Amino acid sequence: MAVSLDIQSQINSGSGKPVSESFAPDLIGLDRNGIALELEKLGLDAREIRMRTGQLWNWIYVNGVTDFERMTNISKPAREVFSNHFTLRRPEIVSEQVSTDGTRKWLFRFTDPAHPALPPVDVETVYIPEPGRGTLCVSSQVGCTLNCSFCHTGTQALVRNLTAGEIIGQLLMARQMLGDFPGGTRPDNGLVPGGETRAITNVVMMGMGEPLYNFEQVKTALLIASDGDGTSLSKRRITLSTSGVVSHIGRTGDEIGVMLAISLHAVRDDLRNELVPINKKWPLKDLLEACRTYPGLSNARRITFEYVMLKGINDSDADARELVRLLAGIPAKINLIPFNPWPGSPYECSDWDRIETFADIVNHAGYASPVRTPRGRDIFAACGQLKSASERLTKRAQRELETKTGPDS
Ligand code: SAH
Ligand code: SF4
Repeated sequence: MAVSLDIQSQINSGSGKPVSESFAPDLIGLDRNGIALELEKLGLDAREIRMRTGQLWNWIYVNGVTDFERMTNISKPAREVFSNHFTLRRPEIVSEQVSTDGTRKWLFRFTDPAHPALPPVDVETVYIPEPGRGTLCVSSQVGCTLNCSFCHTGTQALVRNLTAGEIIGQLLMARQMLGDFPGGTRPDNGLVPGGETRAITNVVMMGMGEPLYNFEQVKTALLIASDGDGTSLSKRRITLSTSGVVSHIGRTGDEIGVMLAISLHAVRDDLRNELVPINKKWPLKDLLEACRTYPGLSNARRITFEYVMLKGINDSDADARELVRLLAGIPAKINLIPFNPWPGSPYECSDWDRIETFADIVNHAGYASPVRTPRGRDIFAACGQLKSASERLTKRAQRELETKTGPDS
């Protein structure tokens, strides 16, 4: 049976003795159950676990506090016990680049002292300000196992999946850098939304990696991000983009409930096999069936189909008409993405008049089809340009990570 923790007497008797910082569990990335479990290990009783979980949650996710000392509604002795047993880690900022259009790209380095065999990983996160809104593009993996032929990330072998703490850590760190937590200060280059508007109003899982190949960690992180008592981002303002991991599309709707984007890019299986090779496993028919049955799909909650414009490859009028035919009956938006080149990339971006003609065909069929303005190309932050220098893990480190995060599909 759990005993009530008299924190002061624990400290006096020495049972609350500091653990080595290097093995202290990190609270960032834990949901309420996870925090409660950690508190249970300290021996707190049920009432106190409930109370402290709520307090810690609020300080971590609402106030963005990184130091237990600032948790002023928690008694000093309790704060001391917490800081002896837990950490609240933020990644190191290796670099911050600001584009002429206001887009920011951070290279964050995550280290996990509790798992010394895990080398640090470098993760790119991008912030895109627009009038009245700001979108954070978050990574789910370092590298990617898939190798879509037009994507720079796909040329980096998968280093590893990110943990929920590292995924939500990108949001917390960006909010901190953009002055989004209470008492924070906005960078004043005039491009970050001002006044009452939060700097980050939207999150897209469109950074490095395939989020549905890291389902459990992405799910935990997005449920934290959308928690009404936490960072409180509406699920309608969170979009998860997948290359087409059909096995997990239904679960995304049921268990996470965020908006879905599909990297379609081709309307025939032979071409899609080449551009998005996961198509060989889950061809268009299966993918579109999973979209038709996406939980929560309605005219108010449409699926976004992303379509990268590759000159002479997938940009003909016939392609546009086939796209319209394929999507018939699915509440959809079509997002045309001008191809962003990278060193050695084998494609060119379609000409603007071709993109416009393609967009017109799609528009006439009744679909909104905004052309995504390339952002941050000068700092190499645009769609599909992300890639870090981290290298694949040793077998031993990989095993250690799997023990930490549990097996995932
Ligand atoms: N792995 C996920 C999410 C990350 S990529 C996915 O594939 O959906 C985010 C979007 O950028 C995807 O639609 C992807 O296909 C697209 N993309 C990749 N490389 C690109 C490039 N060089 N130019 C334009 N878009 C690109
Ligand atoms: Fe991976 Fe997405 Fe790039 Fe394909 S487009 S290689 S799934 S990150």
